[in-house]
Amino acid sequence: MNILFKSTPERGRQWAALIAQQQPTAIFRQWPEIPDPAAVEYLVAWDAPAELMARLPNLNVLFSVGAGADQFDFHRLPRSLPVVRMVEPGITRGMVEYVTFSVLGLHRDMPRYLQQQREARWQGHQLIPAPQRRIGVMGLGILGKAVLAQLQQFGFDCGGWSRTPKALPGVRCWCGEAEFDTFLARTDILVCLLPLTSSTTGMLNAQLFAQLPAGAALVQVGRGAQLDHQDLLRALDSHHLRAAVVDVTDPEPLPAAHPFWSHPALWLTPHIASQTQAEGAVAALLENIVRFERGETMVGLIDRQQGY
Ligand code: NDP
Repeated sequence: MNILFKSTPERGRQWAALIAQQQPTAIFRQWPEIPDPAAVEYLVAWDAPAELMARLPNLNVLFSVGAGADQFDFHRLPRSLPVVRMVEPGITRGMVEYVTFSVLGLHRDMPRYLQQQREARWQGHQLIPAPQRRIGVMGLGILGKAVLAQLQQFGFDCGGWSRTPKALPGVRCWCGEAEFDTFLARTDILVCLLPLTSSTTGMLNAQLFAQLPAGAALVQVGRGAQLDHQDLLRALDSHHLRAAVVDVTDPEPLPAAHPFWSHPALWLTPHIASQTQAEGAVAALLENIVRFERGETMVGLIDRQQGY
């Protein structure tokens, strides 16, 4: 088993130690040290080097170190090369924490109270009970489902939307473009957990915001290019949207003068909603390599047609 790792040296050291423990016979090298490029079978990377197959002619699988694979330029990868995103429990735990914190913060009007604190204004507002707050999660994959399972514990009115039909206990589910309007019209706090594809690029825009009820709020944890920044600012400034929590932007990092840094109704974090945890990631990688070598389907295999 010959694995090449292309990420930060610090992460590489962690992965090397875990692989040495769990698969002592594996050869694990860190980019750019590749004494025998023709021997490399598996590449684990955030960004794939240019002319990948010319450099690594016997590559079997490209693994993303992250939960998405949208950072790869699929046009430059051979169609026959399997591409696999990272599915491991640490990513899910991190995302459940972040979205729970964000939804609770929005539910309890925290952006407004923080602004009042800055103004030394002691003023309470009406508390809306959780069962009357309608949460809508876009994307009912591994992360969307886990987030909804946690949010249900607080008694929220939970709904979700995906490309294909879903049946989730205690969650009202809608799917496809035909049911999108109905889903949006009943959503008070919208959480975006969609992958970035040609269909989802730019979809958090003025048209979508206008379909949410007045006073709705947004949690954007999908990918930066899904969100139109000017449309969000307009929706917040007109008070049609009450507040937003934004973890991913395009570009990343945001320039210092960008209005998101200082908007009173917006909480901004630097793409930290969740992070791959090395322990779970190494176990998932080794398990997937076994699956590949047995001719079984790998967990997180990207469907090149759908783009996720
Ligand atoms: P999955 O692939 O498991 O789920 C994706 C979901 O999105 C599926 O339910 C899918 O529908 C739905 N979907 C995809 N395209 C469309 C569409 N055009 N219309 C409607 N629904 C669509 O992904 P994960 O849950 O594991 O992760 C989701 C995303 O979260 C990642 O791709 C990444 O962008 C983001 N992420 C962000 C992080 C951060 O730190 N901010 C960290 C980790 C992930 P269907 O079920 O029908 O296929």
